[in-house]
Amino acid sequence: MSGKFDVVIAGGGPSGSTAAYILARKGFRVALIDKAEFPRKKLCGGLITHKTVTLLDKIYGCGAATLHEKGLIRFESPEYSINYRDHNIRDAESSIPFRFIDRVDFDYFLLQKAAEAGAHIFTGEEITDCNYRDAEVKTASRRIYKGQYLLGTDGVNSTIRRFLPYDKKKWRSDMAATIEIIFNAEDFPRRITRPELYIGYLRAGYIWVFPAGDKVVTGIGALSRCTVDFKSTFMNFLRSQGVANPEALPMRGFPLPYGNYMKNPCFGRTLLAGDAAGIVEPLFGEGIFYALQSGRYAAESLARGLSENRNPEKFYLERLEKYVYPELKYSNRLRWALFYSQPILKHMSFKIAFKSMPRLLADMVHGVRSYKFMLRKEWD
Ligand SMILES: Cc1cc2nc3c(=O)[nH]c(=O)nc-3n(C[C@H](O)[C@H](O)[C@H](O)COP(=O)(O)OP(=O)(O)OC[C@H]3O[C@@H](n4cnc5c(N)ncnc54)[C@H](O)[C@@H]3O)c2cc1C
Repeated sequence: MSGKFDVVIAGGGPSGSTAAYILARKGFRVALIDKAEFPRKKLCGGLITHKTVTLLDKIYGCGAATLHEKGLIRFESPEYSINYRDHNIRDAESSIPFRFIDRVDFDYFLLQKAAEAGAHIFTGEEITDCNYRDAEVKTASRRIYKGQYLLGTDGVNSTIRRFLPYDKKKWRSDMAATIEIIFNAEDFPRRITRPELYIGYLRAGYIWVFPAGDKVVTGIGALSRCTVDFKSTFMNFLRSQGVANPEALPMRGFPLPYGNYMKNPCFGRTLLAGDAAGIVEPLFGEGIFYALQSGRYAAESLARGLSENRNPEKFYLERLEKYVYPELKYSNRLRWALFYSQPILKHMSFKIAFKSMPRLLADMVHGVRSYKFMLRKEWD
């Protein structure tokens, strides 16, 4: 036995590190286990919205100024560009900048915060087995970690989830595939000065070209069940941008939850958060904010449950249902409205949406307004 803890956390991405940080600061004995050695890579566009920066400030006291000071933001701009295939629909300006981080540094920063707060960090430890009823995991090195509770934050391919009785069919049906290719900025055929989104190439997904300091991050993401010729679509797009022989470039693919969030990610003594529970916004695929927020809610609910000797499930679900799930539900509706209308209206549907109210749409992505009827959004 490698240790008994109040909470064992599987996975040290933004969700797990945040949960570990919050619980450790409250004095709970926490184990945070990750199979990777940090700093580690994570496939990601690195876009963080205003609500993410606000949340980082709330949890870590680390707002935009501090993120800049620590060199964690590698680019920011209030400008953005929406395109329907090769039609430019709108070059617009948001009232708040879009910021870009490098996940290698960002995730390492959060993991260090959890360690400084007193969480016990076990990296290079791959969880291979789980007894979710007893909140116990085993690792490849044959160690056993047992908690009063187990929190699974081990990402989209979660090992913990594999041992849980969840709806696998629903999970698989709303998965997206992604591919990313990262260029040195000087090797990309154009100078990229703002995030660019391209729709219309795919039935249910989009292509992105993001500026990232000395890099340009390009990627494609789409709902797998609605997508054919995924890779060749991306290659053709890059060729249309002037990239010669894109097939020869190093590329990586990774799944992304895309509308398959779990309505109840609680299984007795085991809870899930972040990508492991599918908690990702299903139109643009924003996941960093939702990983941080669900990690925080899970940790605060566990802390309350442990202190009051009550089941944390109710506290966790209450906050997810009040603040997070409405956003996911309404962004899912919006995405189907946009994606269903595109074969009929072609770029007109997007022109109507994006041209008439670019600031409101940006406010919605930033979390100032809700995906629900664009009403003002209050986060707790
Ligand atoms: C191509 C792509 C682009 C994206 N771009 C953006 C973007 O621009 N903005 C945005 O907000 N979101 C983006 N996302 C989504 C975002 O990356 C995720 O939602 C976010 O990383 C989820 O965080 P997490 O902490 O839940 O999981 P993760 O960040 O995936 O962390 C999970 C951790 O668990 C560990 N782990 C996994 N299995 C085990 C195991 N068996 N044992 C021990 N440890 C394990 C992993 O090593 C990892 O460190 C993108 C995703 C993809 C695929």
